[in-house]
Amino acid sequence: MDYKNYIKIVEDWPKEGIQFKDITPLMDNGKAFKAAVDEIVAFADEKDIDLVVGPEARGFIIGCPVSYALEVGFAPVRKEGKLPREVIKVDYGLEYGKNVLTIHKDAIKPGQRVLITDDLLATGGTIEATIQLVEALGGIVVGCAFLVELSYLNGSDNLEGYDVLTLTSF
Ligand code: IMP
Repeated sequence: MDYKNYIKIVEDWPKEGIQFKDITPLMDNGKAFKAAVDEIVAFADEKDIDLVVGPEARGFIIGCPVSYALEVGFAPVRKEGKLPREVIKVDYGLEYGKNVLTIHKDAIKPGQRVLITDDLLATGGTIEATIQLVEALGGIVVGCAFLVELSYLNGSDNLEGYDVLTLTSF
């Protein structure tokens, strides 16, 4: 399936000079969304995954149906101040800003095999921070899956040594 047909390009959003890739038309189409989730599930299926982890908010949209299909749990990575119990945190740079990401300290048990999901790989800052959180808790990142990669930002350079799936790229 050519997922590009379901991604709308929005100029100058959320800031001037940013060309935002809007994945909501893909989610809005049941067949395209299912095909995308199924491809990620197939990628993950042989990896003996214990847990799916995704950064807010679109990492949840992709990660939760994948965790449901694999019959494993889902652990959210959230911005600072959003998770109610003890967290670990990491600072990271975004394509358009800076941020702090957190995860519950007991979300991952050492040795658990983790699939990380997000909608889009841009500079790789978000996914790098998410990997740092997972690994700090002793999790093993066995794969990272994205709907979209912005290949001109070279985010995958930061993911050398990890098994990465992207369904389409710009
Ligand atoms: P990175 O940290 O630079 O790789 O940016 C990726 C993160 O920012 C992901 O969590 C995306 O949801 C979000 N993001 C950045 N650019 C876009 C875009 O064009 N469309 C949708 N999400 C984006």
